[in-house]
Amino acid sequence: MRRLRHARIVATLGPSTSTAERIASLFQAGVDMFRLNFSHGSHEDHKARVETIRALEKKTGRPIAILMDLQGPKLRLGTITDGKATLKRGDKFRLDLDPTPGSSARAPLPHREIFEAVVDGADLLIDDGNIRLTVREHGNDYAVTEVVTGGVISDRKGVNVPGLVLPLSPLTEKDRRDLTFGLDLGVDYVGLSFVQRPDDIAEARKLIAGRAAVLAKLEKPSAIERLEEIVEQSDALMVARGDLGVEMPPEDVPGLQKRILRVCRRFGKPVIVATQMLESMVRLPAPTRAEASDVATAVYDGADAVMLSAETASGQFPIEAVEMMDRIIKKVEHDPLYRRILDADHYDPESTAADAITAAARQVAHTINAAAIVTFTTTGSTALRAARERPNVPILCLTPRLNTARRMALCWGTHPVVTPEVRNFQEVVDQATDTAKREEFAGPGDKIVLTAGAPLGTPGATNVLRIAWIT
Ligand code: PGA
Ligand code: MN
Repeated sequence: MRRLRHARIVATLGPSTSTAERIASLFQAGVDMFRLNFSHGSHEDHKARVETIRALEKKTGRPIAILMDLQGPKLRLGTITDGKATLKRGDKFRLDLDPTPGSSARAPLPHREIFEAVVDGADLLIDDGNIRLTVREHGNDYAVTEVVTGGVISDRKGVNVPGLVLPLSPLTEKDRRDLTFGLDLGVDYVGLSFVQRPDDIAEARKLIAGRAAVLAKLEKPSAIERLEEIVEQSDALMVARGDLGVEMPPEDVPGLQKRILRVCRRFGKPVIVATQMLESMVRLPAPTRAEASDVATAVYDGADAVMLSAETASGQFPIEAVEMMDRIIKKVEHDPLYRRILDADHYDPESTAADAITAAARQVAHTINAAAIVTFTTTGSTALRAARERPNVPILCLTPRLNTARRMALCWGTHPVVTPEVRNFQEVVDQATDTAKREEFAGPGDKIVLTAGAPLGTPGATNVLRIAWIT
């Protein structure tokens, strides 16, 4: 089974999509990576979903990627007397560490690090930015704010502090417990929420110890300030527009999305555009025209993948939402303008043998009108370099490692296949041609372009480019 498109689809699982039948239907409709959102659901729920996906993988023979998305250091208010209170514009409102339930004059904010880092004039946002407070006075256990945008606060509402870098570990106690659980389940990517600085990635990477790839969610202004370093240190990225659009003005998000996609492409890192892509399909069987356009824009901009959140986790039309994304992506990829946009963003290869070979593979494939590029890779790095070239032919990624194949399922234009270790160059050619035929990428008379490394099986040693004929 192969996807007839380059861009990939990520779908979040939840109450609407937990049965084996639903998960199989999502996969049939086009999902390449499933997302387990650890802000919701029990460990038992997530375990059952992973088992279902792995059984499906076995049945279909297609590597499927699984992302565990950690909740991260999400800041929240404490409780409010009677559950809620109304804040009015211009009023003074105090936040402190006292756990006594709050009112319209004060409320508990059980995060000492906020008071320690806050400065006068800083903005605090409550409830996805619906309520805005400006700090007028503070000590190291309280802040007195002025209400700039009023509204109703309620128990445990989320709090964002956009302008500050907080002295917080990227992984809370809960995240650490979830991480141990998820790694034992064998997830392929770990999503880090509210990454603030490059060190956050390093800290997580130490804990993950190579058992999964590290995916940084870009949703903080401080992460955007050090975007290039964070992209360089991560295995994959997500434009997490939900929180990003709270932490920064919504009008900044479209330009940031384009900038992030370009930086990721330059570094050859898979990147997902996420949140509210087909939001109205949570309740309706069709998206708004603006939502269809949003998905298309991400694809025109060269995103590796587009993501569904509530649409598939808790929506009423999860399968339809995936089918809709699949159709939008295919439509864009058949537009001649798409190719011109991708080519205009093309970066020069780095001065390594591996990059020179993969860049040349794209050139040769286009010139001779090859049916596919076939890469042999252990870690996936050669396939990533090939995808960075955004060729107009599919990339077959042959690897002896199942975990590499699963990770590559997220990557633009890449069709991963697990194959036995190759022992000599004849086997490389045979395996490439056999796989291209078997997976229906090429038939008799077609040409394929293949890249490999000699000595065989040495990571990073890609230095051979070969054209092979299918017989
Ligand atoms: P979340 O992340 O759904 O875990 O908050 C995505 C986003 O913020 O866009
Ligand atoms: Mn988020």
